[in-house]
Amino acid sequence: MNIKVIAFDADDTLWVNEPYFLENEHKFCALLEDYLPHHSISQELFKTQMQNLPLYGYGVKCFTLCMVETALRITDNTLNVKILEKIIENGKEMLQKPIELLDGVEETLQALSKDYRIVVATKGDLLDQERKLKKSGIEHFFHHIEIMSEKKTPDYEKLIKHLDIQPEEFLMIGNSIKSDVLPVLDAGGYAVHVPYHTTWAYEQVEHNIDNPKFTKVDVIKDILPFLLA
Ligand SMILES: [Mg+2]
Repeated sequence: MNIKVIAFDADDTLWVNEPYFLENEHKFCALLEDYLPHHSISQELFKTQMQNLPLYGYGVKCFTLCMVETALRITDNTLNVKILEKIIENGKEMLQKPIELLDGVEETLQALSKDYRIVVATKGDLLDQERKLKKSGIEHFFHHIEIMSEKKTPDYEKLIKHLDIQPEEFLMIGNSIKSDVLPVLDAGGYAVHVPYHTTWAYEQVEHNIDNPKFTKVDVIKDILPFLLA
């Protein structure tokens, strides 16, 4: 291996993210439980998110707009403004959550930063991801922050080109097989999967990966033996 740049996904790789979305989704279902059972509300919300993904992209603001739209649909446009107010308030609250780094993140970055260029490659709202990085206390480890609207093969090819390296000099670490592993392998890079205990339905894929450039580890610091000679 001749890795020069190691890219980290952010949400649920460096810090806690999906549990905050789930928490807010539960609150949303509770607000509308007079209209539909919780699981049906969740299904309706997911449907709205999938429809709006090409228009809105990812992140909390998009999630909030999708909750509003779903609530209007479920209530047949008779949504109580008090509920509307609460949905917006819950969305804003998500944007002010503390940053909870996952176990071993800091020591892993510390150890790798001596031998590699380290970057962040994440989706989500630009402003929100910048806020999280600033608050995280780990921003100084990174040479470059890439906030991407999508994480598909051409997006990684663009990033690799921008970093001025060859695909086989790039390694991506993340919790999503769909966004952090498959497109990177496709672009010719290395990929490491660090599963998180909960994954957004959209990011879930059934996939058996048989590729010498792929590794799976249980926790983030387990990548160190592979990368430190
Ligand atoms: Mg992630």
